[in-house]
Amino acid sequence: MIVVMNHTATEEEILKLMEELMSSYPVQIQKITGQERTVLGFVGDTSGIDTTQIENDSRVYRAMRVREPFKKANRLFHPDNSIIEVGGRKIGGGDIAVIAGPCSVESEEQIVSVAEDVKRSGATFLRGGAYKPRTSPYAFQGLEEDGLELLKIAREKTGLPIVTEIMYPQTIDKFVEDVDIIQIGARNMQNFALLKELGRTRKPILLKRGLSSTIEEWIMAAEYIMAGGNDQVILCERGIRTFESYTRNTLDLSAIPAIKKLSHLPIIIDPSHASGLAYMVEPMCMAAIAAGADGVIIEVHNNPAKALCDGPQSLTPAEFDKVIGKMRKYAAVEDRQISEVK
Ligand code: PEP
Ligand code: MN
Repeated sequence: MIVVMNHTATEEEILKLMEELMSSYPVQIQKITGQERTVLGFVGDTSGIDTTQIENDSRVYRAMRVREPFKKANRLFHPDNSIIEVGGRKIGGGDIAVIAGPCSVESEEQIVSVAEDVKRSGATFLRGGAYKPRTSPYAFQGLEEDGLELLKIAREKTGLPIVTEIMYPQTIDKFVEDVDIIQIGARNMQNFALLKELGRTRKPILLKRGLSSTIEEWIMAAEYIMAGGNDQVILCERGIRTFESYTRNTLDLSAIPAIKKLSHLPIIIDPSHASGLAYMVEPMCMAAIAAGADGVIIEVHNNPAKALCDGPQSLTPAEFDKVIGKMRKYAAVEDRQISEVK
């Protein structure tokens, strides 16, 4: 349920109403001060609350039941777009964030050279997997802790904040200390133990959509993190399973306007995993901008043919430079720009 306060309600009156309601019903109330009005978001059992009675209160403009099972992630709870700030960069504030780097960290030379290249082209975050969830147990599993150390070296050399995937709850403390944005991969989107633990942190989380998850299931996964008190969630559409086998997955671009309508969380697009094909990355980036995405995450490798993971979908640094150049022009058409460090 949400209660939209009257313009005339003072801060004191609002706090008093919250107190009255929390002491009368088994609910927690979150106060959101928007540009237009203050909104109270209710989490808990609201079945005993009579909305008409609340609307009769002179402090209240409207009281509405929220049909969706997600509350904190719901746009009704937070009418303004959420903006996630990481190292002087904003995701969700209108500018387009560009996260780039290899699928996996392979060596110091590789990660540092890719980081330097993507930075020169204008990327504002570095990606790179240290812990890799692979379909085959015999495939390269990532450099794990050593990979995190190499990412830190690349960050030190370039100043780019790092985005990398977590797989195990027991590594959370290390990730919180070392990483700027913690990625939850598609395969772990419904790892509820991991989501709950990350909800206790205050780190920005990049939550990828599960391979076969509905939009509602995906937002509910975000709700798990937010229910723990961490509202720093960025959603990432990375393609879903369909009958089509030409592409690795099918990029669901309609998820962008759907998320924008249902939620206040930023949404970015991963054209690399969505298509599995390097030549599709550029057109899908343009489509992502056209559909209103807050950013993209792109795989870039210094030698895709020799990549230990996801070579066929990885761009060379030169190709990436071309793509980001074109994105700049497309962004301008929409009166937007690629995000820069402020
Ligand atoms: C990745 O980003 O390298 C990755 C494994 O992505 P996803 O979880 O979307 O498959
Ligand atoms: Mn990959």
